[in-house]
Amino acid sequence: MGGTAESGSVENTGAEIIDGRAFAAGLREKVAAHVAALKAEHGLTPGLTVVLVGEDPASQVYVRNKERQTAEAGMNSDLIRLPETASQDEVLDVVGRLNADPAVHGILVQLPLPDGIDENAVIAAIDPAKDVDGFHVINTGRLTIGQQALVPCTPLGCLMLLKDRLGELSGLDALVVGRSNIVGKPMASLLLHESCTVTIAHSRTKDLPEVCRRADILIAAVGRPQMIKGDWIKPGATVIDVGINRIPKDDGKTRLVGDVDFDGAVKVAGAITPVPGGVGPMTIAVLLKNTVTAACRQAGVPEPGTQ
Ligand code: NDP
Repeated sequence: MGGTAESGSVENTGAEIIDGRAFAAGLREKVAAHVAALKAEHGLTPGLTVVLVGEDPASQVYVRNKERQTAEAGMNSDLIRLPETASQDEVLDVVGRLNADPAVHGILVQLPLPDGIDENAVIAAIDPAKDVDGFHVINTGRLTIGQQALVPCTPLGCLMLLKDRLGELSGLDALVVGRSNIVGKPMASLLLHESCTVTIAHSRTKDLPEVCRRADILIAAVGRPQMIKGDWIKPGATVIDVGINRIPKDDGKTRLVGDVDFDGAVKVAGAITPVPGGVGPMTIAVLLKNTVTAACRQAGVPEPGTQ
Protein backbone atom coordinates (compact mmCIF):
# COMPACT_ATOMS: atom_id res chain seq x y z
CA MET A 1 0.00 0.00 0.00
CA GLY A 2 1.40 3.41 -0.90
CA GLY A 3 1.00 6.54 1.13
CA THR A 4 1.64 10.21 1.36
CA ALA A 5 3.45 11.71 4.34
CA GLU A 6 1.80 14.61 6.13
CA SER A 7 4.72 16.77 5.04
CA GLY A 8 3.48 16.18 1.48
CA SER A 9 7.03 15.58 0.31
CA VAL A 10 6.82 11.83 -0.23
CA GLU A 11 4.57 10.15 -2.77
CA ASN A 12 3.85 6.62 -3.87
CA THR A 13 6.38 4.84 -1.74
CA GLY A 14 6.35 1.18 -0.82
CA ALA A 15 5.84 1.80 2.89
CA GLU A 16 2.44 1.82 4.48
CA ILE A 17 1.93 5.01 6.47
CA ILE A 18 0.51 4.00 9.83
CA ASP A 19 -2.28 6.47 10.58
CA GLY A 20 -2.11 6.93 14.34
CA ARG A 21 -4.61 9.76 14.22
CA ALA A 22 -7.30 7.52 12.72
CA PHE A 23 -6.44 4.61 15.02
CA ALA A 24 -6.60 6.90 18.07
CA ALA A 25 -9.99 8.27 16.95
CA GLY A 26 -11.29 4.70 16.68
CA LEU A 27 -9.93 3.88 20.12
CA ARG A 28 -11.58 6.97 21.62
CA GLU A 29 -14.89 5.89 20.07
CA LYS A 30 -14.54 2.46 21.64
CA VAL A 31 -13.71 4.01 25.01
CA ALA A 32 -16.79 6.26 24.77
CA ALA A 33 -18.98 3.21 24.02
CA HIS A 34 -17.47 1.37 26.99
CA VAL A 35 -18.09 4.36 29.27
CA ALA A 36 -21.72 4.49 28.13
CA ALA A 37 -22.09 0.77 28.89
CA LEU A 38 -20.53 1.14 32.34
CA LYS A 39 -22.91 3.99 33.18
CA ALA A 40 -25.95 2.08 31.95
CA GLU A 41 -25.11 -1.32 33.43
CA HIS A 42 -23.22 -0.44 36.61
CA GLY A 43 -23.90 3.26 37.32
CA LEU A 44 -20.13 3.74 37.02
CA THR A 45 -18.70 6.92 35.49
CA PRO A 46 -14.91 6.71 35.19
CA GLY A 47 -13.20 9.88 36.44
CA LEU A 48 -9.77 11.27 35.62
CA THR A 49 -8.17 14.12 37.56
CA VAL A 50 -5.10 15.86 36.20
CA VAL A 51 -2.84 17.84 38.53
CA LEU A 52 -0.96 20.65 36.80
CA VAL A 53 1.71 22.51 38.73
CA GLY A 54 3.06 25.73 37.23
CA GLU A 55 2.70 27.32 33.81
CA ASP A 56 4.78 25.17 31.41
CA PRO A 57 3.23 26.12 28.01
CA ALA A 58 3.53 22.65 26.42
CA SER A 59 1.90 21.10 29.49
CA GLN A 60 -0.98 23.61 29.33
CA VAL A 61 -1.80 22.57 25.75
CA TYR A 62 -1.48 18.88 26.54
CA VAL A 63 -3.66 19.14 29.64
CA ARG A 64 -6.37 21.05 27.76
CA ASN A 65 -6.45 18.28 25.14
CA LYS A 66 -6.71 15.64 27.86
CA GLU A 67 -9.59 17.47 29.54
CA ARG A 68 -11.49 17.86 26.28
CA GLN A 69 -11.03 14.26 25.17
CA THR A 70 -11.90 12.88 28.61
CA ALA A 71 -15.16 14.82 28.63
CA GLU A 72 -15.92 13.82 25.02
CA ALA A 73 -15.61 10.18 26.04
CA GLY A 74 -18.34 10.77 28.65
CA MET A 75 -16.02 10.51 31.65
CA ASN A 76 -15.72 12.85 34.59
CA SER A 77 -12.80 15.16 34.00
CA ASP A 78 -11.21 17.44 36.55
CA LEU A 79 -8.15 19.65 36.56
CA ILE A 80 -6.42 20.85 39.70
CA ARG A 81 -4.03 23.73 39.10
CA LEU A 82 -1.34 24.60 41.58
CA PRO A 83 0.97 27.61 41.26
CA GLU A 84 4.61 27.32 40.17
CA THR A 85 5.48 28.16 43.80
CA ALA A 86 3.59 25.16 45.25
CA SER A 87 5.63 23.12 47.70
CA GLN A 88 6.15 19.38 47.46
CA ASP A 89 3.96 18.93 50.55
CA GLU A 90 1.12 20.81 48.87
CA VAL A 91 1.35 18.55 45.82
CA LEU A 92 1.47 15.47 48.05
CA ASP A 93 -1.59 16.71 49.96
CA VAL A 94 -3.57 16.99 46.72
CA VAL A 95 -2.48 13.51 45.65
CA GLY A 96 -3.50 12.12 49.06
CA ARG A 97 -6.92 13.71 48.76
CA LEU A 98 -7.43 12.26 45.27
CA ASN A 99 -6.27 8.81 46.43
CA ALA A 100 -9.07 8.89 49.04
CA ASP A 101 -11.80 10.12 46.66
CA PRO A 102 -13.82 7.15 45.30
CA ALA A 103 -15.11 9.23 42.35
CA VAL A 104 -11.53 9.66 41.10
CA HIS A 105 -10.36 6.52 39.30
CA GLY A 106 -7.33 7.97 37.54
CA ILE A 107 -4.77 10.48 38.79
CA LEU A 108 -2.27 12.04 36.45
CA VAL A 109 0.32 14.50 37.71
CA GLN A 110 1.54 16.36 34.64
CA LEU A 111 5.32 16.18 34.23
CA PRO A 112 7.71 17.93 34.30
CA LEU A 113 7.16 19.36 37.78
CA PRO A 114 8.80 22.66 38.73
CA ASP A 115 12.31 22.61 40.18
CA GLY A 116 12.39 21.71 43.84
CA ILE A 117 9.64 19.09 43.63
CA ASP A 118 10.84 15.50 43.60
CA GLU A 119 8.95 13.79 40.77
CA ASN A 120 9.73 10.34 42.08
CA ALA A 121 8.27 11.18 45.50
CA VAL A 122 5.09 12.51 43.90
CA ILE A 123 4.68 9.48 41.62
CA ALA A 124 5.32 7.16 44.56
CA ALA A 125 2.50 8.86 46.49
CA ILE A 126 -0.14 8.04 43.85
CA ASP A 127 -2.28 5.00 44.64
CA PRO A 128 -0.97 2.40 42.10
CA ALA A 129 -4.59 1.45 41.31
CA LYS A 130 -5.18 5.05 40.14
CA ASP A 131 -1.79 5.54 38.45
CA VAL A 132 -3.12 5.79 34.88
CA ASP A 133 0.29 6.96 33.60
CA GLY A 134 1.72 3.63 34.79
CA PHE A 135 4.84 5.29 36.21
CA HIS A 136 4.54 4.02 39.83
CA VAL A 137 7.19 1.41 40.68
CA ILE A 138 4.44 -1.05 41.58
CA ASN A 139 3.07 -0.80 38.05
CA THR A 140 6.50 -0.86 36.38
CA GLY A 141 7.40 -3.89 38.51
CA ARG A 142 4.17 -5.67 37.67
CA LEU A 143 4.66 -4.97 33.98
CA THR A 144 8.20 -6.32 34.15
CA ILE A 145 7.17 -9.61 35.75
CA GLY A 146 4.06 -9.97 33.61
CA GLN A 147 1.39 -9.26 36.23
CA GLN A 148 -1.72 -7.15 35.70
CA ALA A 149 -0.57 -3.52 35.67
CA LEU A 150 -1.47 -0.07 34.46
CA VAL A 151 0.89 0.34 31.51
CA PRO A 152 2.48 3.65 30.38
CA CYS A 153 0.32 5.18 27.65
CA THR A 154 2.84 5.89 24.89
CA PRO A 155 4.44 2.43 24.72
CA LEU A 156 1.04 0.75 25.03
CA GLY A 157 -0.14 2.90 22.12
CA CYS A 158 2.90 1.83 20.08
CA LEU A 159 2.13 -1.83 20.81
CA MET A 160 -1.48 -1.37 19.66
CA LEU A 161 -0.28 0.11 16.35
CA LEU A 162 2.21 -2.74 15.90
CA LYS A 163 -0.35 -5.47 16.60
CA ASP A 164 -2.85 -3.80 14.30
CA ARG A 165 -0.33 -3.92 11.45
CA LEU A 166 1.52 -7.15 12.14
CA GLY A 167 -0.89 -9.28 14.15
CA GLU A 168 1.41 -11.83 15.71
CA LEU A 169 4.73 -10.36 16.92
CA SER A 170 6.20 -13.59 18.32
CA GLY A 171 9.75 -14.33 17.17
CA LEU A 172 10.34 -10.96 15.51
CA ASP A 173 13.55 -9.03 16.17
CA ALA A 174 12.52 -5.81 17.93
CA LEU A 175 14.85 -2.92 18.64
CA VAL A 176 13.96 -0.12 21.04
CA VAL A 177 16.28 2.86 20.69
CA GLY A 178 16.08 4.71 24.02
CA ARG A 179 15.92 3.39 27.58
CA SER A 180 13.82 5.97 29.44
CA ASN A 181 11.48 4.85 32.20
CA ILE A 182 8.45 6.30 30.43
CA VAL A 183 9.01 4.96 26.91
CA GLY A 184 12.03 2.76 26.20
CA LYS A 185 11.98 0.36 29.15
CA PRO A 186 8.21 -0.30 29.27
CA MET A 187 8.21 -0.65 25.47
CA ALA A 188 10.90 -3.32 25.73
CA SER A 189 8.91 -5.15 28.45
CA LEU A 190 5.76 -5.13 26.32
CA LEU A 191 7.63 -6.50 23.29
CA LEU A 192 9.26 -9.18 25.41
CA HIS A 193 5.82 -10.27 26.65
CA GLU A 194 4.85 -10.57 22.96
CA SER A 195 7.79 -12.98 22.57
CA CYS A 196 9.87 -10.68 20.40
CA THR A 197 13.64 -10.95 20.60
CA VAL A 198 14.24 -7.55 22.14
CA THR A 199 17.31 -5.34 21.94
CA ILE A 200 17.51 -2.01 23.77
CA ALA A 201 19.92 0.56 22.32
CA HIS A 202 21.03 3.82 23.98
CA SER A 203 23.68 6.50 23.76
CA ARG A 204 26.50 4.04 24.49
CA THR A 205 25.44 1.45 21.91
CA LYS A 206 28.24 0.56 19.48
CA ASP A 207 27.46 0.72 15.77
CA LEU A 208 23.80 1.68 16.09
CA PRO A 209 23.22 1.61 12.30
CA GLU A 210 24.18 -2.08 12.19
CA VAL A 211 22.02 -2.89 15.23
CA CYS A 212 19.10 -1.12 13.53
CA ARG A 213 19.57 -3.12 10.29
CA ARG A 214 18.72 -6.35 12.12
CA ALA A 215 15.35 -5.12 13.42
CA ASP A 216 12.01 -6.31 12.04
CA ILE A 217 10.43 -3.79 14.42
CA LEU A 218 12.25 -0.56 15.16
CA ILE A 219 10.96 1.77 17.89
CA ALA A 220 12.72 5.13 18.01
CA ALA A 221 12.39 6.97 21.34
CA VAL A 222 15.48 9.12 21.46
CA GLY A 223 14.58 12.80 21.22
CA ARG A 224 17.10 13.54 18.42
CA PRO A 225 15.60 14.91 15.20
CA GLN A 226 15.83 12.58 12.19
CA MET A 227 18.76 10.68 13.71
CA ILE A 228 17.81 7.24 12.35
CA LYS A 229 18.56 7.19 8.62
CA GLY A 230 16.87 5.32 5.81
CA ASP A 231 19.87 3.10 5.14
CA TRP A 232 19.81 1.94 8.79
CA ILE A 233 16.39 0.34 8.25
CA LYS A 234 15.93 -3.33 7.35
CA PRO A 235 13.88 -3.54 4.14
CA GLY A 236 10.25 -4.20 5.02
CA ALA A 237 10.67 -3.37 8.72
CA THR A 238 7.91 -1.74 10.75
CA VAL A 239 9.15 1.59 12.13
CA ILE A 240 7.42 3.32 15.05
CA ASP A 241 8.74 6.83 15.60
CA VAL A 242 7.99 8.12 19.11
CA GLY A 243 10.18 11.22 18.80
CA ILE A 244 8.66 14.68 18.85
CA ASN A 245 11.24 17.29 17.92
CA ARG A 246 10.79 20.87 16.75
CA ILE A 247 13.22 22.03 14.07
CA PRO A 248 13.52 25.40 12.31
CA LYS A 249 12.10 25.89 8.81
CA ASP A 250 13.39 28.26 6.12
CA ASP A 251 10.58 30.75 6.84
CA GLY A 252 11.73 31.19 10.43
CA LYS A 253 8.88 29.05 11.80
CA THR A 254 9.32 25.53 13.16
CA ARG A 255 7.99 22.11 12.26
CA LEU A 256 7.70 18.80 14.08
CA VAL A 257 9.85 15.86 13.07
CA GLY A 258 10.49 12.47 14.62
CA ASP A 259 13.67 10.65 15.55
CA VAL A 260 13.63 8.90 12.17
CA ASP A 261 14.56 10.52 8.85
CA PHE A 262 11.09 9.91 7.44
CA ASP A 263 11.84 10.69 3.78
CA GLY A 264 14.72 8.21 3.76
CA ALA A 265 13.04 5.54 5.88
CA VAL A 266 9.75 5.52 4.00
CA LYS A 267 11.55 4.20 0.91
CA VAL A 268 12.87 1.14 2.77
CA ALA A 269 10.42 0.33 5.57
CA GLY A 270 7.35 -1.87 5.18
CA ALA A 271 5.36 0.51 7.36
CA ILE A 272 6.15 3.66 9.30
CA THR A 273 4.43 6.13 11.61
CA PRO A 274 4.62 9.78 10.53
CA VAL A 275 5.35 12.68 12.87
CA PRO A 276 2.96 14.29 13.52
CA GLY A 277 -0.01 11.96 13.20
CA GLY A 278 1.60 8.68 14.27
CA VAL A 279 2.30 7.81 17.89
CA GLY A 280 1.44 11.27 19.28
CA PRO A 281 -2.38 11.01 19.11
CA MET A 282 -2.27 7.53 20.66
CA THR A 283 -1.02 8.71 24.05
CA ILE A 284 -4.17 10.51 25.24
CA ALA A 285 -6.44 7.85 23.69
CA VAL A 286 -4.63 5.17 25.71
CA LEU A 287 -4.83 7.38 28.81
CA LEU A 288 -8.62 7.34 28.45
CA LYS A 289 -8.54 3.58 28.04
CA ASN A 290 -6.33 3.22 31.12
CA THR A 291 -8.81 5.31 33.11
CA VAL A 292 -11.64 2.96 32.12
CA THR A 293 -9.44 -0.02 33.03
CA ALA A 294 -8.62 1.54 36.42
CA ALA A 295 -12.28 2.37 37.11
CA CYS A 296 -13.43 -1.17 36.31
CA ARG A 297 -10.77 -2.75 38.50
CA GLN A 298 -11.58 -0.43 41.40
CA ALA A 299 -15.31 -1.07 41.08
CA GLY A 300 -14.79 -4.82 40.61
CA VAL A 301 -16.71 -4.94 37.33
CA PRO A 302 -15.49 -6.52 34.07
CA GLU A 303 -13.95 -4.09 31.61
CA PRO A 304 -16.12 -3.85 28.48
CA GLY A 305 -14.42 -5.28 25.41
CA THR A 306 -12.07 -7.54 27.37
CA GLN A 307 -14.29 -10.50 28.19
P1 NDP B 1 14.72 10.60 27.24
O1 NDP B 1 15.54 11.81 26.96
O2 NDP B 1 14.27 10.32 28.63
O3 NDP B 1 15.52 9.31 26.73
C1 NDP B 1 16.19 9.33 25.50
C2 NDP B 1 16.91 8.03 25.29
O4 NDP B 1 17.59 8.09 24.05
C3 NDP B 1 17.98 7.74 26.36
O5 NDP B 1 17.86 6.41 26.79
C4 NDP B 1 19.28 7.99 25.63
O6 NDP B 1 20.34 7.13 26.02
C5 NDP B 1 18.92 7.67 24.21
N1 NDP B 1 19.81 8.37 23.29
C6 NDP B 1 20.15 9.67 23.30
N2 NDP B 1 21.02 9.93 22.30
C7 NDP B 1 21.23 8.78 21.66
C8 NDP B 1 22.03 8.39 20.55
N3 NDP B 1 22.79 9.27 19.91
N4 NDP B 1 22.03 7.11 20.16
C9 NDP B 1 21.25 6.19 20.80
N5 NDP B 1 20.46 6.50 21.86
C10 NDP B 1 20.47 7.78 22.28
O7 NDP B 1 13.49 10.69 26.23
P2 NDP B 1 12.01 10.05 26.30
O8 NDP B 1 12.09 8.58 26.28
O9 NDP B 1 11.22 10.73 27.34
O10 NDP B 1 11.44 10.57 24.89
C11 NDP B 1 12.03 10.19 23.66
C12 NDP B 1 11.33 10.95 22.55
O11 NDP B 1 9.96 10.60 22.52
C13 NDP B 1 11.34 12.47 22.70
O12 NDP B 1 11.43 13.07 21.40
C14 NDP B 1 10.00 12.79 23.30
O13 NDP B 1 9.54 14.10 22.99
C15 NDP B 1 9.14 11.75 22.64
N6 NDP B 1 7.94 11.37 23.41
C16 NDP B 1 6.76 11.34 22.75
C17 NDP B 1 5.60 10.98 23.39
C18 NDP B 1 4.33 10.92 22.62
O14 NDP B 1 4.32 10.65 21.47
N7 NDP B 1 3.22 11.13 23.20
C19 NDP B 1 5.58 10.67 24.84
C20 NDP B 1 6.91 10.62 25.41
C21 NDP B 1 8.04 11.00 24.72
P3 NDP B 1 21.04 7.19 27.49
O15 NDP B 1 20.06 6.53 28.40
O16 NDP B 1 22.29 6.42 27.28
O17 NDP B 1 21.24 8.63 27.78
